[in-house]
Amino acid sequence: MAEYDKLQRRGLMFILSSPSGAGKTTIARRLLAEDGDIAMSVSVTTRPIRPGEVDGRDYHFVSRGEFDRMVAEEAFLEWAEVFGQCYGTPKAQIKQGLKDGQDFLFDIDWQGTQQLYQKMEVDVVRVFLLPPSITELERRLRARATDSGDVIADRMARARAEISHWDGYDYVVVNEDIDACFAKVHGILQSERMRRARQTGLIGFVRELMG
Ligand code: 5GP
Repeated sequence: MAEYDKLQRRGLMFILSSPSGAGKTTIARRLLAEDGDIAMSVSVTTRPIRPGEVDGRDYHFVSRGEFDRMVAEEAFLEWAEVFGQCYGTPKAQIKQGLKDGQDFLFDIDWQGTQQLYQKMEVDVVRVFLLPPSITELERRLRARATDSGDVIADRMARARAEISHWDGYDYVVVNEDIDACFAKVHGILQSERMRRARQTGLIGFVRELMG
């Protein structure tokens, strides 16, 4: 007999974007730590591995030649060049995971979001985080960085540019308080899982209920 909590469902692609300093990394880490059904999507990159990073956990590190081959084979759902290095979301692991009911978390910018949405619209849930004010965003960027004023100014300009894409998202959450923000974002994830179209096991379950 089908049990309610084991009903089969299709996974979803949960995209979290924000200007840097709006708390995206904190929210992402908490989602991964507190929710057992969502995993980070591991991207492929050509950039050199950094101390403390693990190949296959943080990224799949490949040569430029290998990356170009994957692009030619259409192995990516989306890819982009950032500061001279290439980054891409591998198609095969996501497609298989979604079928198996695995949810994936994406920490990508608005351009990557657009590309994923164009290819995987029904599986994608787009969430954008905003800082409570521009003063608070600047304070957070200053508190975090040991950077000079110029670098801060540059980051602020980039943050403003990222904020301008807020209307390309399904949900927008203002991150005034990290606990409240996390609860809202987690709530979005839990609600989206209940969408009828994602609950692939429902037909059999309901049939049983109706005898
Ligand atoms: P980092 O080299 O510091 O890990 O990442 C640099 C930038 O690449 C970040 O802005 C990050 O969001 C972006 N990035 C990482 N993986 C991907 C990906 O798979 N696709 C796209 N479009 N951007 C990515």
